[in-house]
Amino acid sequence: MNIEEQILPYQKLTKEYNAQLVAVSKTKPNESIEAAYKAGQRIFGENKVQELVTKNDTLPKDIQWHMIGHLQRNKVKYIAPFIKLIHAVDSLKLLKEINKEAKKNNRIIHCLLQVHISNEETKFGFSYEELDLLLTSNSLNEFENIIISGFMGMATNTTNEKLIAKEFSSLQQFYIKHKDNTSPVIQLQELSMGMSGDYKIALQYGSTLIRIGSAIFGSRNLDKQ
Ligand SMILES: *Cc1c(COP(=O)(O)O)cnc(C)c1O
Repeated sequence: MNIEEQILPYQKLTKEYNAQLVAVSKTKPNESIEAAYKAGQRIFGENKVQELVTKNDTLPKDIQWHMIGHLQRNKVKYIAPFIKLIHAVDSLKLLKEINKEAKKNNRIIHCLLQVHISNEETKFGFSYEELDLLLTSNSLNEFENIIISGFMGMATNTTNEKLIAKEFSSLQQFYIKHKDNTSPVIQLQELSMGMSGDYKIALQYGSTLIRIGSAIFGSRNLDKQ
């Protein structure tokens, strides 16, 4: 697969929608990332801390690394010095830890709160009810080294496009409802929705960050990641 050619339509489409492309390079070697980099890509998404750290150490410094996967609290310290955006924050405890490590590094770390929008049991994330409470309480105001810049959601893995549209639409409505929150910690501007199979629908419902892996880099051997 020619990655430089493969990535161009996704870069073009995201531009048309005023969105950004997160090239999901997990399990892929540095050569694949360099090929995408040559095509002008600068935002890459990874879901494993160790892999992220190694790639950050060995690839160009102007790459913006996004952590898109489930993040364990004891591993925050390894990515805190350089991570650009954490997509899948799913607990207050994790936010606390990110804030602590951001402070140690004298940084502000931007985070997205993951919302459970699918009808699948296995996926992580806050419920809308939990987030309504959290976003209207004062409990986030203590976090001086974090900015909540939006939400992330993964739709049900299905061919039922109506269901996917309904799930993305509900997250978009939730985003609109909270967009004018005046807390200094909450500055909503990103909606991370859409992967290789459902990015077209996600863009129709206001996604600002689509996370595309296999459609650009080819399928992963160790799938389920
Ligand atoms: C792997 C992954 C993606 C990319 O999936 P593709 O179907 O390969 O595009 C997007 N988001 C998350 C959270 C992922 O783990």
